[in-house]
Amino acid sequence: MKALIPAVLLLLIAPPASQGAAPPAIEEPRGSWSWPLSPQPAVLREFDPPDKPWLSGHRGVDLKAEDPAQVISPESGTVTFVGVVVDRPVITIDHGGIKSSFEPVESTLVVGTAVSKGDVIGTVLAGHCGDAPCLHWGVRRGEEYLNPLSFVRDLRPSVLLPLTARGP
Ligand SMILES: [Zn+2]
Repeated sequence: MKALIPAVLLLLIAPPASQGAAPPAIEEPRGSWSWPLSPQPAVLREFDPPDKPWLSGHRGVDLKAEDPAQVISPESGTVTFVGVVVDRPVITIDHGGIKSSFEPVESTLVVGTAVSKGDVIGTVLAGHCGDAPCLHWGVRRGEEYLNPLSFVRDLRPSVLLPLTARGP
């Protein structure tokens, strides 16, 4: 009798094969990534997304870079873009639904390359912050820009609310 129970459970939890399930929501891995530069860089310009997509803003953060500075993949992923956008050399890593883009970065990697957290993915070039070398790091989920610093720091307020505070 006991041996039947797992089979019954499997039937209960197995989704219908024909149903096109929506992809699971991606949890933002708050604070668990590594900085893309080492040692930990100063932030020269903060994330300042525009209220509307067509407005100007700053869709990422600028990190102070040594000269020369190697860019480190902050999380494992796959290279999905290496090339020049307008006049800026860009490399994009897909971390499984959340994408990091770095510029201006010169890279010898090619699209499809799997990278591990901590791997060197390129070298920072000058140009984004005038003469001072800096790395622009943008993070996107779909078309939504996220604050890259929330992936290397836990930016949530460190206040634990009691359970009774939830709900209306
Ligand atoms: Zn920037």
